[in-house]
Amino acid sequence: MKILANDGIDPLGKQLLEDAGFSVDTTHIPQEELAERLQAYDAITVRSATKIRAALIDACPNLKLIGRGGVGMDNIDVDYARSKGIAVVNTPAASSLSVAELVFAHLLGGVRFLYDSQRKMPVEGATNFGGLKKAYAKGVELRGKTLGVIGFGRIGRETAKVGLGLGMDVIVSDLFEAPKSLPLVLSGGITVDIPIQQVEIADLLERADFISLHVPFIDKPIIGAAEFAQVKPGVGIVNASRGGVIDELALLEALNSGKVAFAGLDVFDNEPTPRTELLTHPKVSLTPHIGAATNEAQERIGEELANLIIEHLKK
Ligand code: NAD
Repeated sequence: MKILANDGIDPLGKQLLEDAGFSVDTTHIPQEELAERLQAYDAITVRSATKIRAALIDACPNLKLIGRGGVGMDNIDVDYARSKGIAVVNTPAASSLSVAELVFAHLLGGVRFLYDSQRKMPVEGATNFGGLKKAYAKGVELRGKTLGVIGFGRIGRETAKVGLGLGMDVIVSDLFEAPKSLPLVLSGGITVDIPIQQVEIADLLERADFISLHVPFIDKPIIGAAEFAQVKPGVGIVNASRGGVIDELALLEALNSGKVAFAGLDVFDNEPTPRTELLTHPKVSLTPHIGAATNEAQERIGEELANLIIEHLKK
């Protein structure tokens, strides 16, 4: 059987598939040529770049499986594919820790002004060293501060664990009842169960020193002007979930008024092009949707995807 890994696959995943007798092609076929060229394959794996829409599915009657390396399946017409008997699989847990660690890259960067000082040092470094030191003199520590996690699923839980490990108080908000505690694995393999406090979102907004969002985007932002009115002055906010979850215009207003101290965004409206006001804002750090982009996460994704393909197609 032939598999097209159109957005690439980690070498471990490729090896597992080849060992199981599949032929894996890592050529990237441009979107507009897929309808014709995908017909020669039994399965396709994608990340977020390649779109698998109904018309493409109709054009490829031999397709038996679509594999998404990662979580979000917004680029695949999942229900339509399944209605045609095509298996659709993804690897939802493989990247959770990597996304959680990126949240803390943004948080630690935000509390110590890393992004802004990096922007200004090449311009003002030698001539205004004292001025820059003064501008970035009011950093804060994370330990003892309250982290509010909105969306307590796979990534929210990993984020909470990192926060607990740093000595933060963690409060969480979710539509469903959250676990009462989280197992925190310390070095040496010691596991400690830490109680978790679930609160209403309004309570979280009022109490959190830092907020991290880990929810899907449904149809409208869950943090907009009304929510920014409720947050603690000086809060730092991170969104590594989906663009659209925060109302960006309301965020800019809250940053400019000083209500929000900083924002770290791995996702934003109109990806891959962030609005200029965010790109150039001294209180914003941006990353280009790289939450899952670590060697470890990609290896886990490749491995999990390969095992799912083997399980489905070797039946
Ligand atoms: P998950 O399904 O495990 O968890 C989502 C949680 O959010 C669920 O517990 C759900 O009940 C809760 N939720 C939904 N709407 C809510 C609301 N309005 N208020 C409070 N809670 C709400 O998902 P996950 O794997 O943790 O992923 C979370 C987000 O991260 C998704 O949007 C996913 O697409 C995104 N993600 C981003 C990257 C990246 O590279 N930045 C990588 C992977 C996933």
